[in-house]
Amino acid sequence: MDRSDSPASLDGYVPFPEDRIAAYRDAGHWRDRTFHDVLDERSSEAPGSVAAVGPHRELTYGDLADRTRRLATALRSRGIEAGERVVFHLPNAVEFLEAFFACSRVGAIPVQALPRHREAELRHLFEQFDATAYVTAGDRYEMGVDFVELIDGLETEYPALETLIGVADDPATLPNGWHDFDALCGAEVDEGALDGIDVDPTQPGVMLLSGGTTGMPKGIPRTHNDYVFQWEHMADVAGVEDDWVAFPSVPIGHNASLNCVVGAAVWTGATVAVEPTLKPEALMDLVEREGGTYSLLIPTQLVDVLDHPERDDYDLSTLEVLVSGGQKVPPRVVRDAVEEWEVGFCNIFGMAEGPLVCTRPDDPVDVQAETVGRPIADAAELRIVDLDREEEVPRGSTGELAVRGPGYFTGYFRNDEENAENFDDDGWFYTEDVLARRDDGNYQVFGRIKNTIIRGGENIYAPGVEDVVAEHPAVANVAIVAMPDERLGERPCAFVELAEGATSLTLDELSDFLEEKGLAVFKRPERLEIMPELPRTEVGKLDKKRLEELAATNADENPE
Ligand code: AMP
Repeated sequence: MDRSDSPASLDGYVPFPEDRIAAYRDAGHWRDRTFHDVLDERSSEAPGSVAAVGPHRELTYGDLADRTRRLATALRSRGIEAGERVVFHLPNAVEFLEAFFACSRVGAIPVQALPRHREAELRHLFEQFDATAYVTAGDRYEMGVDFVELIDGLETEYPALETLIGVADDPATLPNGWHDFDALCGAEVDEGALDGIDVDPTQPGVMLLSGGTTGMPKGIPRTHNDYVFQWEHMADVAGVEDDWVAFPSVPIGHNASLNCVVGAAVWTGATVAVEPTLKPEALMDLVEREGGTYSLLIPTQLVDVLDHPERDDYDLSTLEVLVSGGQKVPPRVVRDAVEEWEVGFCNIFGMAEGPLVCTRPDDPVDVQAETVGRPIADAAELRIVDLDREEEVPRGSTGELAVRGPGYFTGYFRNDEENAENFDDDGWFYTEDVLARRDDGNYQVFGRIKNTIIRGGENIYAPGVEDVVAEHPAVANVAIVAMPDERLGERPCAFVELAEGATSLTLDELSDFLEEKGLAVFKRPERLEIMPELPRTEVGKLDKKRLEELAATNADENPE
């Protein structure tokens, strides 16, 4: 495809080098399909198949293609141009898919705010991305805060922010100047207006955000080509079929859902079933109601469902493949899920920046429980390097994971400092995650470099210890973090959420258990805090930064 007349690269985006673009095209990894090209292909193959179903609405692939054309025309007529950033702030809802593919048609870039983001994050996003539009839930969905009311008026502080869109059952509830989402989707299609748009698939089609509750999120631009490449491979390794019902269990704007569930489903022509409330009961209800087959859950969500007192009241027999990751999945949880539901299990190591490494549904359960498997695509380049980032470590040894390839990002948006720190001159991205590659080719995750607990010079990788603690019957969820110590530098502190029915757990009981399990003495937690609920990040992971703060605040009270 001739892209010589493509618009200039987006300011603040680090483009793929020309030679890599050419190589990925030559090898067939990149086929220059935009997100909406994928939708249009599915819609022409099977227009009547259900693309999206929510509690109140259902859209076929034909409907979705049609409504996104209408919405794209409306966005275009409001002046939204290729390369502009649109902040999405929506729950898991059918409207998300409409907005996502409509933006793709005009070449606009959705910025994936999460429902738990609040005013501070939204202000940061408006400014950092010079957003020209904001789409949020009006009275149709409950998001904890009335974001229409919150944002109304703020636009005067952000001159670029001209278009405000609300998803409303009653459009009269939207303030003056706001656009009603449904009305925009009902606009007449002006083919002429859309035909003139040439969306460059080597340019960003979506802006994911880095996680964490402290510090503001960083923009992770993903091009149409590198993202679609991953949709295809994720669908392939998970074995997604066109009659499957895929349901995002974490917020739909997070890579875990958008890439591994929604992308893989649309690539295949499967149905995406959405449920705005991500509580375990609502998810189990969705599986029963829609015949849910496939999803990605954060490990704590799996624990919540596995330990749920009413789990057996729901029919979950349609589940075929479950993916879990985003945080270390305790082996016990993998084994329980596989045994309970007879599902294929993809234990996944994933990052919004690109890396997706996972076990296959038909791997032996030991591999699924103990490792995160292999990269989803052979074309992915992975290296495990020493902590000086100089040499590859021998097979089986731990080191930092560095990556490069047709499915990975090329740099944070407008963030030269982070990019200089985490990329080398050959385009390798250093992930700050410690992994090892076993002789059988499967990778194991040891944790973030920064979360490694260094006790008197000895490295303790918290996830390995957490796995053993999680085997204690009184433990539902555990996070182990460093607490500062004058003599040893750091010592491990465990925060535990008790299992259903358990009433207490003492440090001595835990230590005895770890002794029985043969865990080295220096790795054992030296302080135990029981919490009714461990703090979670906006995507549902256990929030280690917050726990480190808690451990540091009370460090004086450490038992000797
Ligand atoms: P995110 O920014 O939400 O995409 O999170 C990416 C980070 O989550 C990675 O850099 C890892 O530190 C962590 N992570 C993802 N999957 C796993 C896993 N299976 N085991 C341990 N950590 C993981």
